[in-house]
Amino acid sequence: MNLDELYRETILDHNQSPRNRRALENPTKTVGLLNPTCGDQIKLDLQLEQGIVRDVGFTGQGCSISMASASMLTEAIKGQSIDDALALAQNFKAFLTGTPSRLPLGELEALQGVSQFPSRVKCATLAHNALEKMLAESDESS
Ligand code: ZN
Repeated sequence: MNLDELYRETILDHNQSPRNRRALENPTKTVGLLNPTCGDQIKLDLQLEQGIVRDVGFTGQGCSISMASASMLTEAIKGQSIDDALALAQNFKAFLTGTPSRLPLGELEALQGVSQFPSRVKCATLAHNALEKMLAESDESS
């Protein structure tokens, strides 16, 4: 299995069994975002506790790239501080536009092929944009 195949398998796996695909009961923050060029919709729920992402869930529908990316992102940020989660989202977005990431991206690296298709970058970064929007609006820095 070469790297491309491995990446394809990873994306497929997240599509077939998305992680954290559920609404949270009492989210601290909720943001919905739409990617009009593809029709992807996502709603991201975060449970924050003392600056840490205690729980995260997403709902919505869209193409396989947008859903796999959301699934990978939720896995990656659970348990992280708000700052680390934001840094991950920003590094991933830079990574997809050709800037090497300063952070390990884990399974999100499987989406690197998307960088060759600028129209699909919006699919892959939808959940990340939702996270950024949500945390930028964050008024509780404690
Ligand atoms: Zn899409």
